[in-house]
Amino acid sequence: MAISDSVLKKPLRLVIIGPSGGGKGTQAKLIAKEFGLKHFSTGDLLRKEVAKKTPLGIKIANLVAEGKWVPDEVVFQVLVPHLKKAKKQGFILDGSPRTLQQAKMLEELLQKENCSLDKVILLKVSPEEIIRRWKAKVAQGERFQPGRDDDRLDILKNRLQAYQETIGPIVDFYQRRGKLMVVDGERSIEEIFNDLKNRLLELANG
Ligand code: AMP
Repeated sequence: MAISDSVLKKPLRLVIIGPSGGGKGTQAKLIAKEFGLKHFSTGDLLRKEVAKKTPLGIKIANLVAEGKWVPDEVVFQVLVPHLKKAKKQGFILDGSPRTLQQAKMLEELLQKENCSLDKVILLKVSPEEIIRRWKAKVAQGERFQPGRDDDRLDILKNRLQAYQETIGPIVDFYQRRGKLMVVDGERSIEEIFNDLKNRLLELANG
């Protein structure tokens, strides 16, 4: 289907969750382009804030340097203006919620803005598959996520572990609200994208 065919009757407001290195960012970018949505990654927004060296950016840089999780309030301070601006156009949020508290904060924020999420896409990829992909890329001389200092196998394993420990309650939260869309992420980029695109078209126009 051509891009111009994927016209939506209403803007979609989406979140994509899944493990680090599982292809969330790739699918989020494709979906954003296909449906004319804004794409936000909290990781990117935080890195931009650090690069700007604002007081908040310095605070974030210090936390990250100490290997600390960025607190929910700080993530939202960076995220809220972007979400408010994009609510009419529609968006796909990637990298958040990482905690149950963030899921609750996001729901409250959207309620205040008189809108809500349409779906939360769970891109399912096993840790074994992510490590296999990482090793395959390294064998080809490629970096997994170019330009990032945290692109190392030990760090990847830590992040996968952290994901496993925190994702359960977030998945339950969205499942209870009937918002969860589970997608098999262990397929080619094109197959995943086509599957997602068709399901989202049905959702928006059905
Ligand atoms: P990412 O690019 O999504 O892998 O994020 C890079 C880093 O930014 C993470 O390892 C976290 O330290 C921080 N970060 C990004 N998003 C969040 C979030 N929603 N909550 C807490 N920390 C975050």
